[in-house]
Amino acid sequence: MDYYELLGVARTASADEIKSAYRKLALKYHPDRNKEEGAAEKFTQINEAYAVLSDAEKRAHFDRYGSAPGAGMPGGDPFGGMGGAGFDPMDIFEQLFGGAVGGRGGRRGPARGDDLETEAHVTLAQARAGEEIQVSVDRLTACDHCHGTKTEPGGKPPKTCPTCGGAGAVRAQARTIFGVVETQQACPTCRGEGQTVQDPCTVCKGRGRTLKTEQVSVKLPRGIDEGYRIRVSGMGNEGPGGNGDLYVHIEMEKHPELRREQEHLIHTAKIGFAKAALGGQVTVPTLDGPQVVEVKAGTQHGELHRLRGQGMPRLQGSGTGDLIVEYDVIVPKPGQLTPEAREALHAYARAVGDEVNEKHESLLGKVGKIFRGE
Ligand SMILES: [Zn+2]
Ligand SMILES: [Zn+2]
Repeated sequence: MDYYELLGVARTASADEIKSAYRKLALKYHPDRNKEEGAAEKFTQINEAYAVLSDAEKRAHFDRYGSAPGAGMPGGDPFGGMGGAGFDPMDIFEQLFGGAVGGRGGRRGPARGDDLETEAHVTLAQARAGEEIQVSVDRLTACDHCHGTKTEPGGKPPKTCPTCGGAGAVRAQARTIFGVVETQQACPTCRGEGQTVQDPCTVCKGRGRTLKTEQVSVKLPRGIDEGYRIRVSGMGNEGPGGNGDLYVHIEMEKHPELRREQEHLIHTAKIGFAKAALGGQVTVPTLDGPQVVEVKAGTQHGELHRLRGQGMPRLQGSGTGDLIVEYDVIVPKPGQLTPEAREALHAYARAVGDEVNEKHESLLGKVGKIFRGE
């Protein structure tokens, strides 16, 4: 889904332009006002688009990867379990219109920890083997000192919030585009928790979580490629309503001598035209080490030789691709020919009746002829 297209804005649109485009569409398709078939679905889509494009970080992510952080992967889901995070369009609508539509405030449970993103650089060999790699991630996890209670050990216990009396939510009336609506909002004093900390933990300053750098193991699916991402469930930030997930974006390391095209690996082998004509051998750098390959006599420039099954595992489906040797037949440039080599080429040209045009011969060639009395 192209979120810019959905909202009908340019990729360069400003935050205000995006907000204004969203407002118009959200009002048009809001399920309370528009009962046409497909309106609810459209409403969900434009909300999803707005959720991403209105958030600078998510928008940058979408511009870069073409998907929303936490959304399903485009082009299928070969690994299973790499699904999207929960998404509720009414949340954004409430956010934008002051939390005042339909009195849905206060229905949410405690917040889940945020999803996190990171990148992993993977070699062809690691991707082929489906190795388990380690990635480093900075996560918010329960404070070791107060064990997430936010209160200094031995300190006064938290007290019931005086604003909401422990309910966590307060009622409010709001004027909205749909009229005056009674709403429930999270209590501003205790942020919906129903109690306030009296003796904040000295380590986390009463936040309950601290940032820690952790090493996370990620099992690569065999044949993984650039642009895919792997979800590691529960390795995002910790939250009272559960942990977020960690999304690992795969970036493939360049191999100096092999390039990848899906399940195939391609190696360009430069050979001289004599070897191409007469046959011989080349050494090919496979992922299992150098391998000597026979060059058949009469090999043409651009001809391919397949080493079956020596490519990458197919990511979707079974089997393995090939390592393809692509021959690049080199014709020597004028400065690269010794007089001896040049003479041999003349002999060859005479033998096959391939007349060499005098005008295109170099001075060196002419000197050679004079010496030989031709
Ligand atoms: Zn603490
Ligand atoms: Zn409160």
